[in-house]
Amino acid sequence: MASTPKIQPANERHGATTGVIDQATGMLEYARSIRRDLHTWPEIGLDLPKTRDRVLTALDGLPLDITLHKTTSGIAALLTGDKPGPTVMLRGDMDALPMPEDTGLEFSSRVENAMHACGHDTHVGMLAGAARMLSERKADLPGRVLFMFQPGEEGYGGAEYMLDEGLLNVPKRADGSDSPITAAYALHITSSMPAGFLGTKGGPIMASSDRLDIIITGKGGHASEPFRTLDPVPVASEIVLALQALVTRRHDIFDPTVVTITRMIAGTAYNVIPETARLEGTIRAVSAATRAKVHEGIKRIAEGIANAHDMNAEVIIDLGYPVTVNDGPSADFALDVAESIVGPKQVAKFPNPVMGAEDFSYVLEKLPGAMLFLGGTPNGMDPRKSPPNHSNRVDFEEDAMTTGMAVYTSLALRTLGVMLD
Ligand SMILES: [Zn+2]
Ligand SMILES: [Zn+2]
Repeated sequence: MASTPKIQPANERHGATTGVIDQATGMLEYARSIRRDLHTWPEIGLDLPKTRDRVLTALDGLPLDITLHKTTSGIAALLTGDKPGPTVMLRGDMDALPMPEDTGLEFSSRVENAMHACGHDTHVGMLAGAARMLSERKADLPGRVLFMFQPGEEGYGGAEYMLDEGLLNVPKRADGSDSPITAAYALHITSSMPAGFLGTKGGPIMASSDRLDIIITGKGGHASEPFRTLDPVPVASEIVLALQALVTRRHDIFDPTVVTITRMIAGTAYNVIPETARLEGTIRAVSAATRAKVHEGIKRIAEGIANAHDMNAEVIIDLGYPVTVNDGPSADFALDVAESIVGPKQVAKFPNPVMGAEDFSYVLEKLPGAMLFLGGTPNGMDPRKSPPNHSNRVDFEEDAMTTGMAVYTSLALRTLGVMLD
């Protein structure tokens, strides 16, 4: 298979980093082998023993100080360069999704109802590759690199567990000097962008995601005599429509929010008015202010409408990940690094955030940094038709891992002030 067809010739790149790209090209088979092993044996959630073992095998022999986290299968691996300087953190998430795989790939999942459908297997391969690349440069490295191998991104808040366990408390150097973490970067592969393309933006890059539950309680009875009951079904319907008016009429369209009711649950028979009706859904926002305001608005609307009909509404909002906010200068820096690797034609400054959610948000609440997207549409496929992330048929172009490893490595080197030729 031809490797890295998407990397631009050096004369089309600006600030070309030929050495790093050559090094990444040589690391592709290593990353591919890790990725395929993880893909075959996917694990879900915070406890990923096989995945952790595979990562430790991959890192074996490298000059890293490894901390195995206790509350999760997280791994913090610290590379200390031979020259003094600050620390930069690179993150890769490691968990799979609870779903069947129907790709037909030779290295398809052998675990029932588990699949690496979000490409986190490629993230691990790329981060381990970057750890090796940077380890090879240890003698000239003016600072340190902390590699964050994180479980439980898919709704388990793995990043928060690792932060709570002291991930960011890097020890002093042997000479007693401090080496604070000055920046953190994460990559996410997407099958909906051509392989090797890169993109991000400053400010909000991914939405907050909260789960919504509304329980309307009335009084059940005979369907033929609704006036002897308090029927929660029309009230639930009114609430669904009023929430859409809340979103469009009470919120700034330039600071958007999404409220989607995905389930309406009520009743058991055609001739019985139920006592309760239930609504479930999701709330997204791209600013903390709008997130808080829409929560308050949903409570007011649901309780107010139910009260107007002599009923009660209980609104339960289960807080998920906060908004992922890229630091502006860090995002611009990351775009510049991306251009130096793939050329300006393959780098996109996104006009809008992505409405999915990410627990790298917790890291970016504590450190300046950015999350970037890496294109991974399989070669020969149309990105618009390629099965998306989380599809049972999604596949990712492994050659894009070369670009990803070059990006991780260049981000670290340039953050630490290494000039690349
Ligand atoms: Zn995902
Ligand atoms: Zn993901």
